[in-house]
Amino acid sequence: MRDNKQIAVIGAGIVGLSTSYYLQSSGHQVTIFDQNDPGSGTSRGHASVIADYGVPALNQPDIWKNLFRYTFSNNSPLSVKWSYLPKMLPWIFKFLQNCNSNSMNYTAEHMTSLLKNALQSYETLLGEIGATDLVTHKGVLYVWINEKEKPTHDQIEIRKKNNVEQVSLSKDEIIDLEPNLSSSIKGGWYFPRAHHTLNPDKILNKLFLKFTEKMGKFLKEKVVSVNNSFGKFSINNKNYDCLIVCSGAFSKDLVNQLENKSIPLETERGYHLEFLGTQEYLTRPTCLVDSGMYLTPLEYGIRAAGTVELAGTTEKINKLRLNYIHHFAKQLIPKLQEYQNSWLGYRPTLPDCLPIISKSPSLENLYYGFGHNHLGWTLGPITGKVITGLVNGETSNNPAFSINKFL
Ligand SMILES: Cc1cc2nc3c(=O)[nH]c(=O)nc-3n(C[C@H](O)[C@H](O)[C@H](O)COP(=O)(O)OP(=O)(O)OC[C@H]3O[C@@H](n4cnc5c(N)ncnc54)[C@H](O)[C@@H]3O)c2cc1C
Repeated sequence: MRDNKQIAVIGAGIVGLSTSYYLQSSGHQVTIFDQNDPGSGTSRGHASVIADYGVPALNQPDIWKNLFRYTFSNNSPLSVKWSYLPKMLPWIFKFLQNCNSNSMNYTAEHMTSLLKNALQSYETLLGEIGATDLVTHKGVLYVWINEKEKPTHDQIEIRKKNNVEQVSLSKDEIIDLEPNLSSSIKGGWYFPRAHHTLNPDKILNKLFLKFTEKMGKFLKEKVVSVNNSFGKFSINNKNYDCLIVCSGAFSKDLVNQLENKSIPLETERGYHLEFLGTQEYLTRPTCLVDSGMYLTPLEYGIRAAGTVELAGTTEKINKLRLNYIHHFAKQLIPKLQEYQNSWLGYRPTLPDCLPIISKSPSLENLYYGFGHNHLGWTLGPITGKVITGLVNGETSNNPAFSINKFL
């Protein structure tokens, strides 16, 4: 029979909350540490898509061409803070090593192994926390204005190979589906199996409440160091049998300390703007591929979310990025005017674009769940399930998600 453990989870984003919920459901006593309120980080501000079509990742062979074009343009989905670039060089170097057909296929194959169970895990979890009304099934659109931006042959083929349902649409078919989109759209693709959530804050809040109702503990504390002695983890003077690091883009320092080695975790920052009361302008999330930005109809308005900024984990907001998103949001739906809310978030990203969902190679009872890049909202619940399986000895470490790759 398995022992029930005292477990500490560091991080109360979608990954940490889902992991804590499943660990608790399997009988463990769980304490979550987060220096901020639960669910107040990157997990609240994304594009809200449960993206079954989330392959390929960014590590594509022809990313070189786009990187060059995007990096030196003032008006592109990618923005680089030049003073931060030297710090990112080790990550960039490793990332570029992964931009080839073999690595792209490897990433897609293993992402698909998680994505194929992601929706079902989500729906079950939302059912258990009383939030089934907060997910909806309308599919997702990818549209473009500039023909140069349409998906490449490789991108279409890799989706096909990984059983993503995708339908090519003409401009007229898109406007029939979404009459408020700009008439300057030239074409698009439709992903009919994709879902989206209507209010991430409510989902995170309900998940946290369910966890506390079942005697889960939350400590609003930053974890700066962890001691491991006699098989116990000591955090801020409290002892635990087991530790799970789910601190998103901020996991690096903790992992470096626990493993005594540096891992190449970086962040792709992204922004959102919200246009309150405009939800009737759009039925389904729509990505304008020219801009790397989605418009998503939430229950209280349209959220424009996306773009990638390489600038580290500081809190400094780049107003030019907000202007960029505002410009393209209005271009995609001309009825949108001023926004009411803006936000900055930090996608945790590893150079092979796969998350780490793994046991520690060096310490017993230490596990990791971070690095979900553009798909963390989609993969939170399934990650929680996999980590719970690892902790309970029911699942074995998948080398594709193992931290050993980087140690
Ligand atoms: C613009 C944008 C759009 C996106 N769109 C989508 C989408 O449509 N679909 C999708 O699937 N994904 C999307 N994503 C990605 C997704 O949001 C992230 O991958 C996901 O939220 C990461 O969740 P997490 O739980 O790992 O991290 P987080 O939500 O960042 O949670 C980590 C938590 O750890 C805490 N923490 C960190 N360090 C410490 C410490 N030392 N001590 C205590 N607490 C600590 C933080 O305070 C934070 O609360 C998007 C991201 C962005 C930025």
